[in-house]
Amino acid sequence: MTDLTDLPLRDELRGLRPYGAPQLDVPVRLNTNENSYPVPDEVVDAIAKALQGELRDLNRYPDRDAVALRTDLAAYLGHGLTAAHTWAANGSNEILQQLLQVFGGPGRTALGFTPAYSMHPLISVGTGTRWIDGTRAEDFTLSVEHAVAQVREHRPDVVFLCSPNNPTGTAMPMDVIEAVTAEATGMVIVDEAYAEFARPGTPSALTLLPAYPRLVVSRTMSKAFALAGARLGYLAAAPAVVDAVQLVRLPYHLSALTQAAARAALACADTLLGTVEAIKVQRDRIVTELRARGLSVADSDANFVLFGGLADSAGVWRRMLDHGVLIRDVGLPGWLRVTAGTPDETDAFLAALDRSLP
Ligand SMILES: *Cc1c(COP(=O)(O)O)cnc(C)c1O
Repeated sequence: MTDLTDLPLRDELRGLRPYGAPQLDVPVRLNTNENSYPVPDEVVDAIAKALQGELRDLNRYPDRDAVALRTDLAAYLGHGLTAAHTWAANGSNEILQQLLQVFGGPGRTALGFTPAYSMHPLISVGTGTRWIDGTRAEDFTLSVEHAVAQVREHRPDVVFLCSPNNPTGTAMPMDVIEAVTAEATGMVIVDEAYAEFARPGTPSALTLLPAYPRLVVSRTMSKAFALAGARLGYLAAAPAVVDAVQLVRLPYHLSALTQAAARAALACADTLLGTVEAIKVQRDRIVTELRARGLSVADSDANFVLFGGLADSAGVWRRMLDHGVLIRDVGLPGWLRVTAGTPDETDAFLAALDRSLP
């Protein structure tokens, strides 16, 4: 039997494992930051109608440039953006991959500030881009001076910022984002997958786009929009960046069904985003409850909470699972991450935690 090690893999892929949070069939799944609320019936109906309208024409390729969808995404984002400033793909992970195919690649480097989204290094390696593991302070904060010094030292072709940051949950101060963007000679990608969950007064890096043509903001419909299964991510940037990405995108990468479903969902944005406030209430409740138990908790602008001070985080994770609650071990010893969902899920999480802490 031939296995992976017998195949002529690219050297940098040897020994790697595919990305994958466990997809286990347990009663309470709080490990991948999905929106816990199912798609509301009126949105189900709107998407079904939009898909029905496409079916007869599936003999034809879809709009390769997804112009109508990009127009709708730009309108949703606001900030004076147009279709020319936006691009869409099958999840924001594909957006990030396309960006690295254009701006990274063999002989080039990408820098991120760990801990951050674990897919940033994986997509870098997958595109032949050398990953540089930048650092943060012990409390996961990143000062202007610390960030700028690392950009200056490494002169990366691509800098990844994640705000609100996964797995810590905290939004990055705008002065850090701006200082990194001003210092960088390459591209700066701000991954704003959780932007809609940010606490009031947290600005988006979208506000910086007019001043910085090498800045890219990536977003997704997987989290606040409750459409992780539909696979729709997008970016906003200067129109030249959108032109650049078209050099590497596969022709017709975004199916007519995906485009239609995303447009129908965007037309119902208010309804779909109706769960965001309820999730933020549970997020803040989890933060308060965990602090009351004496645990360390990072401030969260997202739909999840990172908590630490656990002598045996792997053991707590395992006991939680035994009690039917799946949370995430993000590989930070002493810390675990939990997704904020429904009030019942918070109840189940807290009950299981109290039975799992030593
Ligand atoms: C969940 C997540 C994404 C979303 O990826 P999709 O491919 O759009 O589902 C992107 N970035 C971060 C930081 C995430 O946590």
